[in-house]
Amino acid sequence: MKAVFLIGVRKTEVKDISLPEIKKPDEVLLKTKVAGICGSDLHYFISDNVGGEPVPYPCIVGHECSAEIVEVGPEAKGFKPGELVAVEPSISCGICDQCLAGRFNTCRRVQFLGHPGELQGCFAEYFVMPAQNLLKLSSSTSLEEAMLAEPLSIAMHAFNLAGLENTAPVAVLGSGPIGLSLILLLKKHGLASIFATDRSEARVKAAIRAGASWAASVEEEDVVKEILTRQPLGLEAVFEVSGEQEAIDQAVELVKPGGKIIQIGIPLPERISYRISKIRRKEVTIVNVRRQNRYLDKALRLIEQKEIEVGWLLTHRFKLDEAQTAFTTASDRLDGAFKVAFVLD
Ligand SMILES: [Zn+2]
Ligand SMILES: [Zn+2]
Repeated sequence: MKAVFLIGVRKTEVKDISLPEIKKPDEVLLKTKVAGICGSDLHYFISDNVGGEPVPYPCIVGHECSAEIVEVGPEAKGFKPGELVAVEPSISCGICDQCLAGRFNTCRRVQFLGHPGELQGCFAEYFVMPAQNLLKLSSSTSLEEAMLAEPLSIAMHAFNLAGLENTAPVAVLGSGPIGLSLILLLKKHGLASIFATDRSEARVKAAIRAGASWAASVEEEDVVKEILTRQPLGLEAVFEVSGEQEAIDQAVELVKPGGKIIQIGIPLPERISYRISKIRRKEVTIVNVRRQNRYLDKALRLIEQKEIEVGWLLTHRFKLDEAQTAFTTASDRLDGAFKVAFVLD
């Protein structure tokens, strides 16, 4: 089968490798249908050191996907070949302290699809997952929407962790696919004042389309000044979805005393910093978000019931053979790209 390998900084290679095999009775062999390139995948493309850890090239990444069932193990009950599924990328052990506390996303022995050093990713024609990680698609959900349920699930987990008790003004710094999914979700929950930022003009426009009440490019405006002019008391919550120090600094300025900064974006460096005098004096709570915890089915339901429209977030489709162009388009946000995906026959 064909598989996309990251082989170095900004280097990909499509290789023919042997088909993965079902090794445990509850596993299922899947044929990839739509596989989205996530910001976290891009980190392994643009840098050989992510969060202080060297990237173990060559590796196959990719974890946002929909797939078709090809073969089922003897204990993979309830599934049969030909069925279409969305894939929960995280395999948790079920028995560690974190799993027993219901914190499956921080499982001590987590195995994540396409996380280098854990599981081979879905940027390949086939991959294997346990049956319990598969969610059957309803006839009204497309394969593209099913892939987009994964970034939406991150937004839902972050929204839940934020624990907003009212509809006070908030900001979303970084309007990529997860930021846009979050704006859609905030809007659905009745928030009327949603301030959004990004570097890209296309994403600023998209933030407005998703439901932001105000959006601007950080390249063109002093966004902190503009937002605080409109909300002089500051914001209840600031969702940081870019992972950049500049946005984290903005979040510290924008949040009101007693407010929260919700860190969703993944900073590339091992350390970032906060102006401690500001966050301490304001008693700011910083909430960290690790992927998501069992929100994929809830995300699929929102999509299925047309409560949230995510299809438009996928802007660019490529074949596996076009991996280099696909990764470059996504990382450099060429041609107004939001979500870039591999679409397989
Ligand atoms: Zn992701
Ligand atoms: Zn566990």
